[in-house]
Amino acid sequence: MPLTDTQRADIEALRAAAAPTRRPTVPALEDMLFTAIPLLDHGFIRVVDYMGDDGAIVQAARVSYGRGTRRVSEDAGLIRYLMRHRHSTPFEMCEIKFHVKLPIFVARQWIRHRTANVNEYSARYSVLDREFYIPAPAQLAAQSDINRQGRGTVLQGAEAAEVLALLRADAATCYDHYAHMLNEDAEGAPADPARQGLARELARMNLTLNAYTQWYWKTDLHNLLHFCSLRADTHAQYEIRVYADAILEIVRAWVPAAHAAFLDYRLGAATFSAGMLSVLKRMLAGEAVAQDGSGISKREWSEMMGLLGKQ
Ligand SMILES: Cc1cc2nc3c(=O)[nH]c(=O)nc-3n(C[C@H](O)[C@H](O)[C@H](O)COP(=O)(O)OP(=O)(O)OC[C@H]3O[C@@H](n4cnc5c(N)ncnc54)[C@H](O)[C@@H]3O)c2cc1C
Repeated sequence: MPLTDTQRADIEALRAAAAPTRRPTVPALEDMLFTAIPLLDHGFIRVVDYMGDDGAIVQAARVSYGRGTRRVSEDAGLIRYLMRHRHSTPFEMCEIKFHVKLPIFVARQWIRHRTANVNEYSARYSVLDREFYIPAPAQLAAQSDINRQGRGTVLQGAEAAEVLALLRADAATCYDHYAHMLNEDAEGAPADPARQGLARELARMNLTLNAYTQWYWKTDLHNLLHFCSLRADTHAQYEIRVYADAILEIVRAWVPAAHAAFLDYRLGAATFSAGMLSVLKRMLAGEAVAQDGSGISKREWSEMMGLLGKQ
């Protein structure tokens, strides 16, 4: 369901207002502020508020009285150093607050990230909208043969059509029964005066996991990047990855130096175990090392060869 006219007007009113402040602001993030970035078929993410910038990381690291800014290149160098050496507390000085609309099954994965402040839309108090996440055909894939948590090839033809029809029909039927049990009209009055209607907190248990929920989610940059390192990774489920990817674009606008350091030292980096490192050293010394005799398991070997682009 697109934003209503009232919701759009609220956002535009906030975007039209300007509040003078002595605090540092980031023009690129100010441009994005309050605007909903559409994700999946009915979801979105939008920045509601933030505190700090790249300079705030440097300022805290130096415990300085001023902005902490020397030269941009010097600041970026310090941020890279902090990221490389996991000196994480200066990154906690930046905070951001999002409004997210997401399917319930994605929210269940997201909520596992405990180092954030959350307030969710209450389905005890309000009636959920009649909208469900239905995957795009390209995302309708079979179970992976090699990864029990992943997807394999995309379903085709009649099977894909049947799955889509089932997903749509089941979600619609469950929602229709939810609405019937609630017995509420648009104003919340009984739709059928002969029935009492079931409490919202009970009727909601009939909804499918692809129904959408919403929350405000606030966290600091350190924990946000931890979230992105897990959820923007290729091992994360596509439906949460699109949110993490959108967050990374927001981070790029907000704290460009921290974003670049994160891509370099976290997202684009790889961890080698002691065993892997020993194999690498033997390879670099010219030895023809095979998995058998490498001292690492087949799985670790395969992961290592994947990292080295040898598969
Ligand atoms: C690809 C993938 C697959 C997953 N599969 C499963 C699954 O099958 N089943 C399942 O249950 N979960 C699964 N998870 C969720 C995963 O186990 C974590 O719960 C989730 O990623 C949150 O990570 P976190 O605890 O590091 O984050 P946060 O909760 O944000 O915590 C950040 C960090 O704070 C510290 N911390 C926070 N709370 C505590 C605490 N109480 N004690 C000690 N340290 C703490 C830890 O250092 C932690 O890494 C999966 C996650 C991913 C990315």
